[in-house]
Amino acid sequence: MQEIGVETKLVAILGDDVGHSKSPSMLNAAFREKKLNYYYFPIDVKPKYLADVVRGISKMNFAGFTLTMPHKIEIMKYLDEIDPLAEKIGSVNTVKIIEGKLIGYNTDGEGFVKSLEIEKNIKCDENIFFVIGAGGASRAITTTLASRNAKKIYIANRTLEKATNLSNIIKEKIGYKNCIPLNLGTDNLIKYVKNSNVIINTTNIGMHPYEDKSPIDTSFLRKELTVADVIYSPDRTVLLQAALEKGCDVINGKGMLLYQGYIAFEIWTGLKAPKVAMKEALID
Ligand code: NAP
Repeated sequence: MQEIGVETKLVAILGDDVGHSKSPSMLNAAFREKKLNYYYFPIDVKPKYLADVVRGISKMNFAGFTLTMPHKIEIMKYLDEIDPLAEKIGSVNTVKIIEGKLIGYNTDGEGFVKSLEIEKNIKCDENIFFVIGAGGASRAITTTLASRNAKKIYIANRTLEKATNLSNIIKEKIGYKNCIPLNLGTDNLIKYVKNSNVIINTTNIGMHPYEDKSPIDTSFLRKELTVADVIYSPDRTVLLQAALEKGCDVINGKGMLLYQGYIAFEIWTGLKAPKVAMKEALID
C-alpha cells in the first residue's frame, strides 16, 4: 500500500455499524494490485448525520463511497444524478464523485445476478426464480431479474403486502408482468418451488441470530435446483447446507459481494477490476 497522503483518493463505506465489513480488504487489495493511490475504509454514520457527512465528503479528496444499512434510500435526497436502474430499484449503494458532483448507482442486483450468470451459468430469460423476502436486497435483485426478462419471479415474503407492493412496483417501473407475490407463512409453497429452477434467499434468516433456521421448508428442495443465499456469514446457511445435501448447485452471498466490488471498482477508477486479487482478499 502506498503511504496515505493528501493526494490519496479516499473511498469509504458508510453504515451504522460497519466494523465487520469485508469490503475494505477486498477494495484495498484491488487498489494495491493496480498500484493506485486509493484507500478504502469504514465509517460508522448515524442516520441523523448522513447529510452532514456526505456534504463533508463531497468537499474532500474522495473518489466516492459505498452505502449500507440504513442509508441506501435516504442518500438519494443528496445526489446530483441517479443511474436509471438505481432509480427503478429505489435505492443507491454506490456513489461516484466527479468534481464535487455526486452520482448514485445500485450494484446490489447487478452484482448478485452477475454472480449467478458467471459462476453458475444461470441465464435470466431461461429460468423461473423463487425469491424469498421483499426487503431492500430482494427489491434490487428482483428488479434486475425482471429487467433481464426472467421467465417468472415468485416473491414469497412473511408480510404479503410488501411482496404485493414490490410486484406492483416492478410492473409499473419495468413493465414486467410475471411477478407473483406469495405469503411465506400460509401459501402452499411446494407447488411454486416445484415450478422453479432457482431459489434465492434475500432475508436474514440463516444469519445471526437466526443461524439455525431456514427461510423455507428444506424438504421442498430437489437436486435440479440452484439455491442461492445473499448471506455470506456463515458461509453455508441452513438452507445452503440442506441444498448441498440434496445435491443442488449452491452459491452464497460472497459472490454478490465480489461482483458488486468489481462493478464499484470500475465505477470509481474507470479501470477493469483485478478479479483474482479481490477474490483472494475475501478468503477467510
Ligand atoms: P430488509 O430490507 O430489512 O429486508 C429483510 C427481509 O427479511 C424482509 O423481506 C423481511 O420480511 C425478512 N425477514 C426478516 N426477519 C424475518 C423473519 N424472522 N421471518 C421471515 N422473514 C423475515 O434487509 P435487506 O437490506 O434486504 O437485507 C437482507 C439480507 O441481505 C441481510 O442478511 C443482508 O446482510 C443481506 N445482503 C447481502 C449483500 C451481499 O453483498 N451479499 C448485500 C446486501 C444485503 P418482512 O417484510 O415480513 O419484514
